[in-house]
Amino acid sequence: MNRKQYSYLNLVGLPLVLLFIILGISGYFLNQNITEILTRWHREKMILSIEGIGEVFDHHSRYIDKNKVRSIIEHFTHISESRITLISETGEVIDDSSIPFNSAHELKNHANRPEIIEALKGRFGFHSRVSSVTKQEMSYVAISSLLNAKTIVIRAAKPTKVIIHEKQKLFGFVIIIVVITLIGAGIMGFSIIKYLNKQVNLEYEYLEDKITARTKQINRLQELGTMLSACNSREESLEVVENLVPKLIPKMSGALALFNASRDLLEVKAEWGEAWQGQKVYSANECWSLRTGREYQTGHDTFGIPCKHLEGIEGQLFCLPLIAHGDTLGALHIIIKNGVLLDEYSDLIFAIGEQLGLAIANINLRRSLREQATKDALTGLYNRRYLMDVLSNEVSRSERHRKVIGVLMMDLDHFKRFNDTYGHDCGDLVLSKLGSTIKRCCRDHDICCRYGGEEFTVILMESTLDNMGVIAERICSAVRAIEIIYNNQSISDLSISIGISVFPFHGSTPEELLKEADKVLYQVKKEGRDGYKIKEFSSEDTEDSEDSNDLESKKTHKTSKKV
Ligand code: GH3
Ligand code: MG
Ligand code: MG
Repeated sequence: MNRKQYSYLNLVGLPLVLLFIILGISGYFLNQNITEILTRWHREKMILSIEGIGEVFDHHSRYIDKNKVRSIIEHFTHISESRITLISETGEVIDDSSIPFNSAHELKNHANRPEIIEALKGRFGFHSRVSSVTKQEMSYVAISSLLNAKTIVIRAAKPTKVIIHEKQKLFGFVIIIVVITLIGAGIMGFSIIKYLNKQVNLEYEYLEDKITARTKQINRLQELGTMLSACNSREESLEVVENLVPKLIPKMSGALALFNASRDLLEVKAEWGEAWQGQKVYSANECWSLRTGREYQTGHDTFGIPCKHLEGIEGQLFCLPLIAHGDTLGALHIIIKNGVLLDEYSDLIFAIGEQLGLAIANINLRRSLREQATKDALTGLYNRRYLMDVLSNEVSRSERHRKVIGVLMMDLDHFKRFNDTYGHDCGDLVLSKLGSTIKRCCRDHDICCRYGGEEFTVILMESTLDNMGVIAERICSAVRAIEIIYNNQSISDLSISIGISVFPFHGSTPEELLKEADKVLYQVKKEGRDGYKIKEFSSEDTEDSEDSNDLESKKTHKTSKKV
């Protein structure tokens, strides 16, 4: 399976590049505005300081001497980290925190300084220039105030390089944060993608295992279907079920129950897993699934009572009716005693049930078609087509094994009169009774057929001439003893004529043997009916035969006459 993975490039690389660009643009704009922001901030700080000094001067009730003034401006210099200068209304410097005490007179007159001029007009005075005292670029803020009842200007100044230095510090800090953020985001993104890919791989492996297991199940189910459809008999299909079903649903015990011929009971016909603990024969009423026509489950968190035929069995119990072409054929029963959850296998069990139902229905259908094709509906005996097939096979087989076959051709005597006297229904009844009578008189391995009309044929396998005579005589006697009650009338006095030919003496093909038997039958009819006759043997037959038993039989029956 082609596994799809989360891409590090798409999900970490690209967002990081995007974040880097956004931060870069933000940094650019910050750089553009930070100087102004810092300048304003420092200016505000200086304004607060000089306003503070002004308020101190204002609220002082007594005269403030030079020393006191000095200590006040030093105090505010310390707080605001700026140079404080006091300038008289005429521009003379009264005091300056950046020069030694009492040396202010050495400084030039400040009357022409722009910030001083502005302050004396009653406004805030701002200016930036290189200081003649400190020789560096300074930012000045000035306001007018009163000192000892005289108008003065209080000025604060700060080197602009302080602002630049702070800006650089701030920028450096921002860059460090950005770098840490990018690295952190990268590591976090990488770890998340790695974790997600691992989860995806685990999910894939789980799905692959599931698909492999499901494919295996489907293949086995298909194999089961193919095998079942290739079965010719119900026994064969049950053997397939017992071998393949436990491989499809392992760790479970199960049984397949089918309706018996009279459809009043179900019989367990195949079982797998542990020896079947449920009842082996039960009525449909004892199984809830057969009553309701759908699956029935008890045990493991289910609602319901166990079926009667599974009473007393611990574990999960599952019954599924086998229905095909609208006909209920039986039921599939499953018992689970270990921790396997039935729900995981329920689809598979339904599929197995469907396959089994169809397979059994097909076998039943084929069997009934085969019977229809080979049997006569009125008498239940084999038909002429089947007779010809079997006789042809038996002739070849007996040729190889040097065995004898007897072919008995029979015709009911004066049957027409039954039809004429009592009607065709009565005639049919007689024929049906005759069929069962002939079958009863023969051995299990003999083939009894209705040749056509009121003519019947029996193939006596691996028989002796003695036996042929015994069976023919038995049939004649049994027919004579038949008594049928039809419309309250007793019908009896039946008789049958039988002609017998013997393979290999009277023909080497089915047609020859039937023709010869028919000829002898005609002779029996001619000689008065109600009896049997074996076709005569030629002297060559006697000499050619190597089987002592056959020779003996031939001698005995060569002159068989009507009995
Ligand atoms: P014979 O002793 O010479 O054999 O006399 P028979 O009357 O038995 O022979 P025949 O050939 O004259 O008549 C056979 C009758 O069997 C004619 C036909 O109507 C009847 N028959 C043939 N098949 C059936 C069948 O399936 N049902 C019924 N009811 N009659 C049938
Ligand atoms: Mg006839
Ligand atoms: Mg007849």
